[in-house]
Amino acid sequence: MQRARIRKDDVVCVISGTDKGKTGKVLQVMPTRGRAIVEGIRLLTKAQRKTQDNPQGGFAKKEASLSMSKLLLYCPEDKKGVRIRCVKEGQKQIRKCRRCGHAFDN
Ligand SMILES: [Zn+2]
Repeated sequence: MQRARIRKDDVVCVISGTDKGKTGKVLQVMPTRGRAIVEGIRLLTKAQRKTQDNPQGGFAKKEASLSMSKLLLYCPEDKKGVRIRCVKEGQKQIRKCRRCGHAFDN
């Protein structure tokens, strides 16, 4: 099984598909399905029924999940999606950028 390289609240970069090149914050990770929901990525417009809370009905933007294989962690120093390596420091696994060594977990 693949280790979860991407976690909730990470900033990630999309490397393929219609949202290629975009970055966003991870809202939810679904490890068993290998999918994640990223803020502002794969927005779907959902028609909403008229309800008591929302008497006008209308449309809501909602993020759909996408495969984590299409995501790379975004490195603020390289300003792009990067591959990471896991380094053990004391009790903790730290994820570091393979290019510049930026540590994602402090
Ligand atoms: Zn980096």
